[in-house]
Amino acid sequence: MLRITNLDKRYGNEKLVLSNLNLEVEGEAVVSIIGASGAGKSTLLRCINRLVEPTSGKIELNGLDLTKLDRGELRRARRRIGMIFQGFNLVDRLTVMENVQSGRLGYIPLWRAAMRRYPQEDIDRAFHLMERVGIAHYANKRADELSGGERQRVGVVRALMQEPEILLADEPTASLDPKTSRQIMELLQSLAVEFKLPVLINIHNVVEAREFTQRIVGMRFGRIIFDGLPSDLNEAA
Ligand code: ADP
Ligand code: ADP
Repeated sequence: MLRITNLDKRYGNEKLVLSNLNLEVEGEAVVSIIGASGAGKSTLLRCINRLVEPTSGKIELNGLDLTKLDRGELRRARRRIGMIFQGFNLVDRLTVMENVQSGRLGYIPLWRAAMRRYPQEDIDRAFHLMERVGIAHYANKRADELSGGERQRVGVVRALMQEPEILLADEPTASLDPKTSRQIMELLQSLAVEFKLPVLINIHNVVEAREFTQRIVGMRFGRIIFDGLPSDLNEAA
């Protein structure tokens, strides 16, 4: 489970971008984080994966406090966090299989991924996951030959290759057409259940958030102003 306690973040000497934020996410839940641009949604995800340093507060992932790690520990901890991006962040000239394996390698020597020979179990696991999301037949295609929806599926498989304990998705459908967006949201929803994963999704499309997630967290000026069921959102929105 993810437990965030009294999280504050300010960049430099600016005002607080996250202010005394508290959030708990347990098990196979898909949580949408909504809020106007500048509300602090991305900063929140970046604090969790420690791309930015929280100013104060605690972020615990299954008991490990992510705010108290040295470099080496942080690198290992990041492997426990699967990331899915708006722009997919694939390496275009590598194949789907190579991109997917870079999840296994922990992203760090990304450009080396192509030179690695992968252990058979990693190849098997990759095929299994690629079949699950419908891209196994593209394993040897270059990433830039795929459509947006297919590319995002590669991103999802790459994240799952890490055997993550949580998935963070930053506007995962913002580059996709409405139909493909729904497919990706449905996919994330069913994977959360299958893999018993908490999934946090930053999303600006409130309609999609309501339809495809069980819980909505609404942010404004760095604070949580709503946390509940989509059906209860009306009054607060
Ligand atoms: P959202 O994802 O909800 O649009 P962000 O987390 O991106 O919100 O931004 C929250 C606030 O933090 C905004 O005022 C933004 O300008 C500011 N901010 C974001 N990133 C940085 C940064 N690297 N340096 C300084 N200010 C930043
Ligand atoms: P090219 O074949 O286009 O001349 P190189 O293979 O010589 O490119 O690599 C140029 C630089 O790009 C190198 O510094 C390398 O680290 C980086 N690089 C190579 N392949 C990748 C990749 N797949 N992803 C990210 N960076 C890469």
